Amino acid sequence: MRVVLMGPPGAGKGTQAEKLVKRYGFPHISTGDIFRAAVREGTEMGLKAKEYMDRGELVPDEVVVGIVRERLQAVDCGQGFLLDGFPRTVAQAAALDEVLSADMMTTLDGVVNVDVQEEELVARLTGRRICRSCGSGYHIKFHPPTVRNVCDKCGGELYQRTDDTVDTVRQRLAVYRSQTTPLIEYYGQRGILLTVDGARDIEEVFREITAKLDEQAKGR
Ligand code: ADP
Ligand code: AMP
Repeated sequence: MRVVLMGPPGAGKGTQAEKLVKRYGFPHISTGDIFRAAVREGTEMGLKAKEYMDRGELVPDEVVVGIVRERLQAVDCGQGFLLDGFPRTVAQAAALDEVLSADMMTTLDGVVNVDVQEEELVARLTGRRICRSCGSGYHIKFHPPTVRNVCDKCGGELYQRTDDTVDTVRQRLAVYRSQTTPLIEYYGQRGILLTVDGARDIEEVFREITAKLDEQAKGR
């Protein structure tokens, strides 16, 4: 299955992606994760991307599209994939359509839109913690690890993203509103938008996503 997971920062995309990958076996492609890895490795692309990420702005379309195009050529994407945090602009969505049709002779099966109100997002993002070793996501209140600052899965140390501060979060939400929300109409018009109420328990959200994806797969 070829799926896009969209929604504002903090909607729970990464959290749901961890679970969806286990269920469907497709690779998880998070452009944010790709940029953070490049920043850690200190590559030229990573250093450039960091300037935008630190300001809460989007990395330029041509950079992101180039990375995703290359990633989708890998053999593990042959049977499907889960794109998380891409596309984020109409230009990225149009480029994705082009890559899928021209390079892979296929189309998207579904776009899951995880819907959550803004005040809840600020609380989620400022309390988010991530494992340095395996990348698993936690929240100090809503999804705490058993032992403070230690990953349940691998024992790694948890850290806070540098862009999860109140001011940068507000900027990221404003960018989402202006540049990414037009995609709701873009995919809605194509009949592949699956909107899910993300303001509920992690397990309940997961159940609704899988029910909608399974239904969508049956109908195609
Ligand atoms: P995104 O990838 O969309 O930016 P994350 O999956 O990282 O969002 O989730 C943001 C924060 O909110 C994390 O700390 C996560 O543990 C927490 N979270 C995710 N889903 C829920 C939920 N349904 N209820 C409460 N907190 C959640
Ligand atoms: P995320 O991990 O999805 O919250 O993304 C973190 C940051 O990476 C964003 O605030 C952007 O600066 C950058 N980024 C991730 N995905 C994209 C994308 N599709 N387009 C532009 N910038 C992106």
